[in-house]
Amino acid sequence: RKWGYSLAGELRQAADRDPDRVALVDDGYGSITYGALLRRAERLAAALRSSLGLEEGRRIGILCRNHGGLVEACVAASLLGADSVLVNTGLSGPQLDVVAQEQDLRVLIYDAEFADRTVGLPAHIHRVDERRHEELIATAPPEPLRPPARSGRTIVLTSGTTGAPKGARRRTPSNFGPLVSIIDRIPLNVHDRMLITAPIFHTWGYAALQLGFGLRATIVLHRRFDPVATLRALDRHDCRALFAVPVMLQRLLEVPPPARRPPVEVVAVSGSALPGGLAPRFMDLYGDVLYNLYGSTEVSWASIATPADLRRAPTTAGRPPHGTRLAILDEHGAPVPRGRTGRIFVGNDMLFEGYTSGNGRERRDGLMDTGDLGHLDEHGLLYVDGRQDDMIVSGGENVFPSEVEDLLAGLPQVREVAVIGVPDQEYGQRLAAYVVLHRGETLDAEAVREYVRHYRARFSVPRDVYFPPYLPRNATGKVVARDLRQYRG
Ligand code: ATP
Repeated sequence: RKWGYSLAGELRQAADRDPDRVALVDDGYGSITYGALLRRAERLAAALRSSLGLEEGRRIGILCRNHGGLVEACVAASLLGADSVLVNTGLSGPQLDVVAQEQDLRVLIYDAEFADRTVGLPAHIHRVDERRHEELIATAPPEPLRPPARSGRTIVLTSGTTGAPKGARRRTPSNFGPLVSIIDRIPLNVHDRMLITAPIFHTWGYAALQLGFGLRATIVLHRRFDPVATLRALDRHDCRALFAVPVMLQRLLEVPPPARRPPVEVVAVSGSALPGGLAPRFMDLYGDVLYNLYGSTEVSWASIATPADLRRAPTTAGRPPHGTRLAILDEHGAPVPRGRTGRIFVGNDMLFEGYTSGNGRERRDGLMDTGDLGHLDEHGLLYVDGRQDDMIVSGGENVFPSEVEDLLAGLPQVREVAVIGVPDQEYGQRLAAYVVLHRGETLDAEAVREYVRHYRARFSVPRDVYFPPYLPRNATGKVVARDLRQYRG
């Protein structure tokens, strides 16, 4: 048997070709070369099998922040042909119990800081914290690993923005397609140095890790996102690329800019919409380096906006890259004309295989429903108008939260804003706006309404306006609507 394409196969190749190149720089455990990383992952795999019975086809849960231990666990699972289930660090204990049961986990590797969430897990799931992880590596049997008959899958849990997190089974067919589609629009190079602040348990951070291995890059990881530490690390480690989520850009703009512009040439964000106005503000300060990728756990990335696209149209999601087809279809599956909103369908060789439970996604002619609505402009640039489920129907009129959010984000007093639909007896739904103000600023509800009334149709005016101190967000920076609804401040 040979080592086929997998995360482990990819690391093996990198370790064969560049054993002494630094693979990871981790703010906890320091730096490690490709060769050494592979050896540690091999030892971990051998120990997981011999001591904890992790066999081919079994599942291992990984509940970790971004650090070397998480990477070793993913590779170890892949070496054994086991599936790794990447668990969102924002899950509560009871949610983790559900995931563990549904995914039939055999082992859970977790960071000690999450220990209290693991107490409810059944006893047959072996729990491995950082200390045990090191013990396993230290005491691993010396037997060589043979390539598994099946390659392990990575199961990424969707964020659970719209309900319970769903497990999405992802194949890793070959890195060729994804790599070509990325470098088609983003100038990344072999041996780049990159900082990944997007969480690796999320599909975007995980994709960045795979890309990093494919490019035999030096990957810098931080356990927690901190804007000042991020700017410092970009400079100190001479990073050419940063992989982040949009809300992190907002945080970077809130701290004093460094005296010297960091050497970064690619700042790639994905996972949620870029708020209006953010792209030009960011690029004015850090240069024309911003790339906005639209995608999801189910379709991977479907379109990429370059800095030139974002200069022209600050909220665009760009164009589908090489190897990706994109269509905007109406409710009957027919293409809609440019400028009109419809359902976004995508086809590429990175589509997920299906959920680990429940229904899949509608497919038509090799394209898959993204669950989002969007439109193309006359230049063929894509705009994601919002999720199909999030569209607010108020008095029979359709309103996208993003339209009103982008408008309100233009008010100088506003730091960030979220708009949702709430049930209304008369209109079916009405708009509620949650407006976070910059420190020291004031604004009243009527001024907010008046501003929207000035620019938009009557049905787009939020009737409820709240001023919470912050917006509840998940780890990828998405606003959690169900938590917002509880705010009545
Ligand atoms: P769940 O399905 O459990 O609610 P989720 O859909 O939030 O979780 P993800 O797969 O991370 O989990 O989210 C993908 C969605 O995020 C896309 O379908 C889209 O709505 C939104 N999104 C991602 N990137 C962008 C972007 N660049 N611009 C606009 N929207 C984006």
